[in-house]
Amino acid sequence: MKSRFNLRPFIKINEENKIPLIGHIAFGIIDRGTNLIQVRPSTHCPLSCIFCSTDAGPCSRRRMAEYVVEPGWLVSWFNQLAEYKGVWDIEAHIDTVGDPLVYRHLPSLIRQLHMNPRVKVISIQTHGALLSEKIIDCLEEAGLSRINLSIDSLDPNLAKYLSGTPWYDIEKVKQLAEYIVQCTKIDLLLAPVWVPSINDKDIPEIIEFALNIGAGKHWPPLGIQKYIPHKFGRKPRRVRPLSWRRFYKALRTWERKYGIKLVLRPEDFNIYKVKPLPPVFKINEKVVAEIVGRGWMKGEWIARAKNRTITIVDVPFSNPPIGRKIRVKIIQNKHNIYLARLYPKPW
Ligand code: SF4
Repeated sequence: MKSRFNLRPFIKINEENKIPLIGHIAFGIIDRGTNLIQVRPSTHCPLSCIFCSTDAGPCSRRRMAEYVVEPGWLVSWFNQLAEYKGVWDIEAHIDTVGDPLVYRHLPSLIRQLHMNPRVKVISIQTHGALLSEKIIDCLEEAGLSRINLSIDSLDPNLAKYLSGTPWYDIEKVKQLAEYIVQCTKIDLLLAPVWVPSINDKDIPEIIEFALNIGAGKHWPPLGIQKYIPHKFGRKPRRVRPLSWRRFYKALRTWERKYGIKLVLRPEDFNIYKVKPLPPVFKINEKVVAEIVGRGWMKGEWIARAKNRTITIVDVPFSNPPIGRKIRVKIIQNKHNIYLARLYPKPW
């Protein structure tokens, strides 16, 4: 099947193919040892931001496949993890390696997450390109608590440039930001990505905009993000990333100027440590895994073993022999996200 936004194939993940929802960075759920559980239902994105760390959207060069997870399958995995965590104030954070508004089951997913009594907060991370008043109302009715909205410039031309998308309409997104604050119970946090030398002057303007419209009813109104070049992400030309020192220095200056908190900590969102899921594979462990599909990036396949998905990297063949069992060696297991290589090496 071909994806809606480009010609990459997309893989549906559901109860039929039973691809495990723990183990992959791009889909399923991720536990980093706190009361926040990341929920990743889809990898699609309609934009092609020039700084995108996950190389998402129509202009992607490295992605070889996109994934979409059925909500029932996703929620069953989420509920098991929530039960294991055992606390009653879990935040389900739908953050994806694309934009969650592309996911057509989003209201249903939120509704089902909301039904879990252990969930206290449901938040999403979006650039807002696909928002409308109707969708916002629908998300509110489903039980959404907060939208983290990435607005990187208030200037229409610069916003189009940064999003890599000529139809991206920042005026519409601004109006919808106001609508969220004034007409719904959903809280709004503006989360611009500061790309030095490109949107330096826009960050104070975004701070003023957030304060003017009254963002941040229960949580901080802003979460300014530092541009960080990633190995497989897009990197704007001639941009030198800020050092953390300079970044925090600027945030502290703006904190004093505007009288708000910009240097954020997990406690600002009531995020605290909760027992993590233990890893099921050790580094260097040899594992027999069943190939289940194409990998997300070039040179990757995905496989399953011990109810976890494993990304096999550096594969010198393009078409995965689905259903075949192969031996792999685990090379990464942090946060139950597994990378492996074929073992022995086929070359
Ligand atoms: S930064 Fe976000 S909205 Fe922009 S292309 Fe990447 S995933 Fe999509």
